[in-house]
Amino acid sequence: MPINATEAYDDGNIFARILRGEIPSTRVYEDEQTLAINDINPLAPTHILVIPKGAYVSWDDFSARGSDEEIAAFVRAVGKIAREAGLVESGYRLLANAGLNAGQEVPHLHVHIFAGRPLGPMLAR
Ligand code: 5GP
Repeated sequence: MPINATEAYDDGNIFARILRGEIPSTRVYEDEQTLAINDINPLAPTHILVIPKGAYVSWDDFSARGSDEEIAAFVRAVGKIAREAGLVESGYRLLANAGLNAGQEVPHLHVHIFAGRPLGPMLAR
């Protein structure tokens, strides 16, 4: 069920539980501020979810409340993860769903990294 990006942070969301180690995940990268895992239902040969460790509902929430340090660390981590996965030469796509019209399902900010095949047009018309 898509979430409203303005709702308060829910500590029981699936990524909060993964961050706390309560639910298993395939971790591809971790540092002090960021965790990256493989998506459980991949939509491309490479489908990584990059998750800041701070409690932010969405891109809107993070860009409004996150510190400059957290935001810089997250943006750098996304780039580093793509580089370390060898995605730069062939190319990759970043996507962050925020709120109802985007169909955001998990109410903890995450950026999807898609790669591994030509990804087609940005959106279906
Ligand atoms: P959203 O629609 O919120 O942008 O994307 C949520 C993503 O989280 C989906 O691509 C979905 O497959 C993924 N996902 C949901 N539950 C889990 C889980 O328990 N583990 C992992 N690794 N991914 C999940």
